[in-house]
Amino acid sequence: MLRGKVAVVTGSTSGIGLGLARALAAEGCDVMLNGFGDAAEIEALRAGLERDHGVRAGYSGADLGDGRAAAGLIAEATGALGRVDILVNNAGIQHVAPIEEFPPEKWDAVLGINLSSAFHTIRAALPAMRQAGWGRIVNIASAHGLVASPFKAAYVAAKHGLVGLTKVTALECAGSGITCNAVCPGWVRTPLVERQIEARAAERGVSIDQAAADMLGDKQPSGAFVTTEQLGALAVFLCGGAAAQVTGAAFSMDGGWTAQ
Ligand code: NAD
Repeated sequence: MLRGKVAVVTGSTSGIGLGLARALAAEGCDVMLNGFGDAAEIEALRAGLERDHGVRAGYSGADLGDGRAAAGLIAEATGALGRVDILVNNAGIQHVAPIEEFPPEKWDAVLGINLSSAFHTIRAALPAMRQAGWGRIVNIASAHGLVASPFKAAYVAAKHGLVGLTKVTALECAGSGITCNAVCPGWVRTPLVERQIEARAAERGVSIDQAAADMLGDKQPSGAFVTTEQLGALAVFLCGGAAAQVTGAAFSMDGGWTAQ
């Protein structure tokens, strides 16, 4: 039970981040949502967390592509909810192209949102966690934090970097009551992946169902998508007392992707 802890989950208006926010709220955490989307829909998500779980929930539209805004998110959450005990760095974007055709501005955006934002939020959150003698940092990396695929240069570089940042943070915080771990999901059927399924279906002239099955067939031996609920349960474990000595680890939840 994490009742009374305050969690910031970046990129939590959709997909995995929303699943993680719901899982933490179900354990009693107050939650700061962040991300983009329709204002009325986001307000419905925020109010829904408060209603369903009896917790406090806030929302910040901080753009994590901007380092100062990323650090500001921690200050905003502290102002709104009192402190930050749990930081989940989840916000991420994808761009798929061969290196020679990869737009440099897309490289900068992917590195900024998927990697640098985590540096800025961790840097801003650590002083208060150290003072409290307790903290949990969970970085949502990817199977692409451990192995590569073609055409995802920026994403693979950022996710490998995030696993590295996780290890450094763990070492610097060892013995302080603060842990830092990475989670490395395989395919999860979120809007980010739905766009890749649609692109594949269009490119190959097959149905959406066929494209999704082919994507799993290429990479994920289990043949099934990971769910946001499964990832939420792992994050809750990492935030709990049983995981006090788990730090600097990269947890695969990928249906066997990286076992190959
Ligand atoms: P998604 O597109 O459904 O959600 C991304 C979230 O990040 C949204 O809330 C969006 O508003 C937010 N976001 C995007 N840019 C932002 C910015 N500049 N500032 C603040 N928020 C921003 O994607 P998802 O699939 O849920 O991905 C979440 C994380 O999980 C990403 O880091 C992604 O790389 C990682 N991941 C996803 C999969 C998968 O199969 N879906 C697999 C492995 C890792």
